[in-house]
Amino acid sequence: MDLTVQDMKNWLLKTNEKIKENKDYLTKLDQAIGDGDHGINMVRGFEKVAEKLEPAEYAEIDAVLKDTAMTLMSSIGGASGPLYATAFLKWTATAKGLETLDQEAFAKGTQAAVDGIKQRGKATEGEKTMIEVWARVNELVASSEKVTAEQIQQAANTATEDSKEMEATKGRAAYFKEKSIGHIDPGCASSNLLFEALAEVMKGNE
Ligand code: ADP
Ligand code: MG
Repeated sequence: MDLTVQDMKNWLLKTNEKIKENKDYLTKLDQAIGDGDHGINMVRGFEKVAEKLEPAEYAEIDAVLKDTAMTLMSSIGGASGPLYATAFLKWTATAKGLETLDQEAFAKGTQAAVDGIKQRGKATEGEKTMIEVWARVNELVASSEKVTAEQIQQAANTATEDSKEMEATKGRAAYFKEKSIGHIDPGCASSNLLFEALAEVMKGNE
C-alpha cells in the first residue's frame, strides 16, 4: 500500500459517488433504528468534501485529510458529522508533511481515527456503531504484513454485517434497546462504503 496525494483525493471523491448511490439504503437503515437522516447527512457532507477537494491542488496528504475533516465538521448535522470529522482530524495529525501514505503510516492514521471516534462518542467496540468498521480495518492494517485491497474490503464488509446482531448501547439506536438487533448500523454501512472506495483505489494500483 502506497497511497499518493492523488489517491487520497480519488478515494474521497469515490466515497462521495458511493454515498450518493447508496443514499436511500442509508436512509432505510437509519429509519429502522434511528431518525432516518443518515443518508441525507452523508450525502450533504461528502458532496461538500468533493466540491472542496476537486479543484484544489495539494502537495501533502495531511492537507487533503484536514480539508475533509473541516468540511465534514461544518456540513454534516447529526451525531455522525463530528464523529467522521474527528476521525479525519486525528488522522491529519499523524500525516504531517507526508507525500505518500505507506501501510505503517496508514495504520497510525486509522489508529488515531479510532481513538478519536471512541473518545468523542464515549463508545467502544461492540456497541453497534461505526467504530466496528473503523476498528476492524485498523486492526487488519496494523497486523498484516502486506495488506491487500481485497482484505480491507472484506474486513469492512464483515464488520458491517456483524453489527446486525449487536444491541446498540450508544447513539439514537440505543433507544431501541433489544429491538436494534437484526438491523445493520447505518454508520457501519457508510463507513463500509468509505473503505470500499479505498479498496477500489488500491485495486487500481495493485
Ligand atoms: P444521528 O444519530 O444524530 O441521527 P446519523 O444518523 O447521521 O446521526 O448517524 C448515526 C450513526 O452515528 C450511527 O449509526 C452510529 O454508527 C454513529 N454513532 C452514533 N452515536 C455514536 C457514538 N456515541 N459513538 C460512535 N458512533 C456513533
Ligand atoms: Mg440519524
